[in-house]
Amino acid sequence: MKIKFLGVGSAFTTSEYYQSNMLVTARNGKELLVDCGTDIRFSLRECRHTTDVSSQDGDSRGKIDAVYISHLHSDHIGGMEWMAFETYFSPNSGKPKLFMEENIMHEMWNCSLKGGLGCIEGKQMHLTDYFDCRPASDGGSFCWERILFTLVKMPHIITGYKNFYSYGLLIEEMDHQGSRVFITTDTQFQPDLIGRIAKKTSVIFHDCETSPLKSIVHAHYDDLCTLPSALRRKIWLYHYQPHPDDRHPKADGFAGFVKKGQEFDLKVKS
Ligand SMILES: [Zn+2]
Repeated sequence: MKIKFLGVGSAFTTSEYYQSNMLVTARNGKELLVDCGTDIRFSLRECRHTTDVSSQDGDSRGKIDAVYISHLHSDHIGGMEWMAFETYFSPNSGKPKLFMEENIMHEMWNCSLKGGLGCIEGKQMHLTDYFDCRPASDGGSFCWERILFTLVKMPHIITGYKNFYSYGLLIEEMDHQGSRVFITTDTQFQPDLIGRIAKKTSVIFHDCETSPLKSIVHAHYDDLCTLPSALRRKIWLYHYQPHPDDRHPKADGFAGFVKKGQEFDLKVKS
């Protein structure tokens, strides 16, 4: 299993970083996209030198077989209309599988996608016309290409009225001695939760804000520095603001900043 970061930036980042979407590649070459933001067609092309998401010849190798959506901000779903139309109107393309928590799957369609995707010439459409929908329960898991993905509910925006969560992913291969990894997706600083998850994982990819002001809705670099050193060593930082040059993650005990296009080959079990 490999995880490639198509982008490592925050929501309003530049092409120098792109939004924080990732590509998981199974051992058979099939690909699962983790989040699909507004700049996905550009970050995919830069990563793979193509925007083709369809299977042209029945060979799924190097093609996107599935999409996972963590939450409903546009740097995570803004490319879904493109993805839907691109695959729907490609004659040789099957529907991509769509994995996400069941409640936000409904919300994504009704509050975000329906306006653009709800009809085509002569036909009313639904999310299931574009995607092979595989809703997962809150705290549940799904299996894709013998890789187990467990959803972890992360607080992102707390209003006191309607809280807005992002679903992080605990990922492990079922048949091979691979690392168990955790991707936080967008999250507030959660030291206790991350401490518990770290006991089960060898690598953590953590949302990290590097702006001078703290938004609170993302974990800030300065707060992450207060985590125990053994935990910081497991943490790769991503979703940062452009030019975080005054930060020195390795000197501060982290694994480092993930670079755009960086791929992790996760082979060795801790
Ligand atoms: Zn977000």
